[in-house]
Amino acid sequence: MPKKVVEIKGLNYSYPDGTIALRNVSLDVFEGESLGIIGPNGAGKSTLLLHLNGILKGDGYIRISDLEMEDKNLFRIRSRVGLVFQDPDNQLFMPTVFDDVAFGPINMGLPKGKVEESVSEALEEVDMLSSIKRLSHHLSFGEKKRVSIATVLSMNPEILALDEPSGNLDPKHRRELINLLKELNHTKIIATHDLGLVSEICSRIAIFDRGEVVAEGSVQDILGNGDLLEAHGLA
Ligand code: ADP
Repeated sequence: MPKKVVEIKGLNYSYPDGTIALRNVSLDVFEGESLGIIGPNGAGKSTLLLHLNGILKGDGYIRISDLEMEDKNLFRIRSRVGLVFQDPDNQLFMPTVFDDVAFGPINMGLPKGKVEESVSEALEEVDMLSSIKRLSHHLSFGEKKRVSIATVLSMNPEILALDEPSGNLDPKHRRELINLLKELNHTKIIATHDLGLVSEICSRIAIFDRGEVVAEGSVQDILGNGDLLEAHGLA
């Protein structure tokens, strides 16, 4: 039985304006698997991802590997869960590509030599090493997406949590992104509308709708169930 690396039990979350975004969500993620989280707009997918490294704090139980979601564990949890936002402009905020990818390792207190090594390795993994000195805001959208992934790879996380990784990419860059994700061996949690990406990368799927997990199963079972997909605005 593979190790459970994420355990969520009975998670509820409402935004400050009262919008209920997660209702009694329970979900397990196992080591090495790729879990697709699909569902219509507003289903709560992004809200769930923001709970995985404690950016949002709902009511309920969350455990990441052996660490319960508590303030004293947040620093270690944030180095284990690499959260890649949907919009790379929310991820890249430093002047250069190097600075953006080095931000996490510097924050973790790594010595200069180790920081440089982590940055080079992470950029190499996403095939952006040649852009290390470029200005982040000069990159194309697809390049920004890749560098965003490098900003979390440089912290050597166990789990990658990706929000709409293929969103707004043209077919060529979408293909490159899917190939890149296939090469990364991390446990992955991918929130997306892109069922093609899910079918290529994920082994298991959870469908969210109106803040609830409404179905969970193998990719074959879920994507093979047209009625289920249609009922939740995914067909
Ligand atoms: P998804 O990622 O599946 O599209 P979200 O997690 O973004 O869904 O949103 C879940 C619900 O929370 C939606 O009803 C959305 O309108 C609401 N929501 C998201 N962000 C905020 C926010 N900052 N303030 C208030 N409501 C929000």
